[in-house]
Amino acid sequence: MRGAEPQRRPGKDIMTEGCIFCRIVAGEAPAYVVYEDGTALAFMDIRPLEEGHTLVIPKRHYAYLHEVPDEEVAQLFTAVKRVARAAMEAVGADGVTIVQNNGHAAGQEIFHVHVHVIPRYHGRKPLRPREASRVPGERLEAVAARIREALR
Ligand code: 5GP
Ligand code: ZN
Repeated sequence: MRGAEPQRRPGKDIMTEGCIFCRIVAGEAPAYVVYEDGTALAFMDIRPLEEGHTLVIPKRHYAYLHEVPDEEVAQLFTAVKRVARAAMEAVGADGVTIVQNNGHAAGQEIFHVHVHVIPRYHGRKPLRPREASRVPGERLEAVAARIREALR
């Protein structure tokens, strides 16, 4: 009888094995990385809502922000602050929106905590997530190189 085993919830909430962002952290999946420290990793979103849209993640797997230990939250958001300034400068944006979705209801698709850094311009709305499409790797790399330069 296997009845005593915990049931996996169907689909999406808890996943460490097979988590695409854990695979990026491990170097098993490709990403255009712009920043890395002991706690955080930042890389280009493959379906940017604006050019320069970057994701900042804790290297350790947590599904939701409230699971992240306070010290790691502080380190994560220190990385967010740096990446946000650099992304703005790299693309010449007027501002930056920081978004962090928790749960399906909030639009979370990847259940590894991530903070969106989205460059903003006066008088222009970014794409909505369902309008965004993948952009060619060379375009992501071009903007990633500018963000890396701005982080120096
Ligand atoms: P969420 O809706 O969970 O807040 O955002 C998930 C984000 O991850 C989306 O903006 C989506 O484009 C991005 N994304 C999904 N899969 C990948 C991937 O394999 N690599 C990268 N770099 N971004 C991804
Ligand atoms: Zn993960």
